[in-house]
Amino acid sequence: MQSIGCAPDLIFFNGRIYTENPAQPWAQAIAVRKHRIMAVGADAEVLALADGATERVDLAGKLVLPGLCDAHIHFSIWALGLQEVRLAGTRTRAAMMDAIRAAAAEAAPGAWIVGQGWNESWWGETDFPTAAEIDAVTGSDKPAILYRSDMHSAVVNSAALRIAGITAATVNPPGGVIDRDAAGNPTGYVRELATDLVARHIPTPATAQLDEALRLGQAELHRLGVTAIHAQRVKDGDDGPREWSSLLRLREQGELKLRVACNVAAHELPHLAGLGLRSGFGDAYLRIGHVKVFTDGSLGSRTAWLLAPFEKLAPGEADSYGVSVTPPEQMAAEFRRAVELGFPISVHAIGDRANRVCLDIFEELADSGLEPPIPHRIEHVQIIAPADLPRLGQLRVTASVQPIHATDDMDTADLFLGTRGANAYTFASFLRSGALLAFGSDAPVADPNPFAGLHAAVVRQRVERLPAPPWHGDERISLAEAVHAYTLGAAQAAGWQREIGSLEAGKLADLVVVDRDLFALDEEEIAAGAIARTQVVLTAVGGEIVYSRDV
Ligand SMILES: [Zn+2]
Repeated sequence: MQSIGCAPDLIFFNGRIYTENPAQPWAQAIAVRKHRIMAVGADAEVLALADGATERVDLAGKLVLPGLCDAHIHFSIWALGLQEVRLAGTRTRAAMMDAIRAAAAEAAPGAWIVGQGWNESWWGETDFPTAAEIDAVTGSDKPAILYRSDMHSAVVNSAALRIAGITAATVNPPGGVIDRDAAGNPTGYVRELATDLVARHIPTPATAQLDEALRLGQAELHRLGVTAIHAQRVKDGDDGPREWSSLLRLREQGELKLRVACNVAAHELPHLAGLGLRSGFGDAYLRIGHVKVFTDGSLGSRTAWLLAPFEKLAPGEADSYGVSVTPPEQMAAEFRRAVELGFPISVHAIGDRANRVCLDIFEELADSGLEPPIPHRIEHVQIIAPADLPRLGQLRVTASVQPIHATDDMDTADLFLGTRGANAYTFASFLRSGALLAFGSDAPVADPNPFAGLHAAVVRQRVERLPAPPWHGDERISLAEAVHAYTLGAAQAAGWQREIGSLEAGKLADLVVVDRDLFALDEEEIAAGAIARTQVVLTAVGGEIVYSRDV
């Protein structure tokens, strides 16, 4: 048993505790004092530390994991989205339109209708909705923007096009595309930075509204066993300062019960540099993360930047290699500047060309002796050329990936990439390359439930299609590897491994208790979706129980 200090405030006992500490992989009890783990060990020895004031929580033999960390979430956008038009459950085009019609009927005249989460691949279709289709359900006086599930493109209605001043004469903005019909008129579909032409006209949420959204979002994450997040930025967005301010307000009021490493947008770097701040600055709840840069778009919006063109969906279609949203020379300059100032890079790269460009820049920096204080990370690493795989490990780049994208996007990958789907979501290959693996959800792009992510990584098949065989099953990883990527791996990716990520004396007492022993499931149960159906029964942050059902 490891132990420090005087009598504990709280002891969790009679558990099956999976610690992520190789020196003591399993334990029965954890003692907590002043938010930190005081001792980890067998029931008898840990309970012996108690005095009359020590609270005792009987875990009834249940499995305990270190608190789960979502290494890629757009926290405020997701949290606000919980109150917008939610289209993630719509399985047909008509269902999407019905949901928008219902929202439009409730919206005040002139108010924006904002929604997110639809995905045409769930309808078995490839054509995106148009302004005319949305007009038919919203009418002409209420502007509407409905983001595709990947948040890299959106359909808007005619009122929104009018407010944004987008006409046949509008040229595509840098890094963005306005879809047009044969006559050159905008169809209402906007991709990448063209979405900003519309979105900038949506009133920003009031302070109180954002604070309340984050409170509710935090509660939902606790219900899912998430105790830490790496909050991501969107390209050229102004969501960063607003989210940071709201988190600070919650922190000051003692309401922040989530560890948040906040990435900063590349354009915010000069402000931090002016103050001499660095990644890792902050406290036990809120700290500055990586500098976020974007290389390309997304697979589903067909804006991933590829080495060879997308598979053609219709005969005679022109070759498309996707979209480079930041010129590589500019990326190289931003990476260098960030590292010189003490910041590691977190770079969004989907396509195999995008990933190669990022690795090339990381290699140049390493060759010139510029090492980051915390490892650089590539967000998504969705498609990577086999020749580039070993470079991830050689350059010690974190693969920050979202396993649920593999199962959400498997049909899209087959359609757009053909046999190159074998190079997509190659989690087992990342581990073999020696790369650090950190798992997240990319919510609102995907479901933030980490157990859905663990299932996707271990089984690689959608729950609703089971017992269908895995998609590229050789890239499955073990449950232990997947749990590591959601706990200690994610902590290491943020340079936070001395404080969180495993259950050992001295670390913050963040843990989650679940309703089944994941490590005792047999292959048949796992293949039938048992991991995905896991329910959290208790979540503790700093030893404080922030969520519990009957234990
Ligand atoms: Zn993202």
